[in-house]
Amino acid sequence: MIKTRILEMLRCREVAERADRLIDGELGHWERLNMKLHLVMCRGCRAFIQQMRATQKLTREADVPDDTVIGDDIMAALAQRRAKFGKRP
Ligand SMILES: [Zn+2]
Repeated sequence: MIKTRILEMLRCREVAERADRLIDGELGHWERLNMKLHLVMCRGCRAFIQQMRATQKLTREADVPDDTVIGDDIMAALAQRRAKFGKRP
């Protein structure tokens, strides 16, 4: 009984670890099949994947690779704009 539980937990962790690669379509045929099999049985992982997919979709639509980069970009753009407006009469 305990063994099955540990196995299940491990598999859930594996699913979580591979979730981004599953969404990106980077997994092999068997890996993907195993993931899908797990997702059919495990509601928790299914919700997790769904959430990740939604997050990735949003990130992709915004075309933003990294939060830190956004910060720097915005800061640079603001500085540029400020400089431009400063020069304008
Ligand atoms: Zn699971």
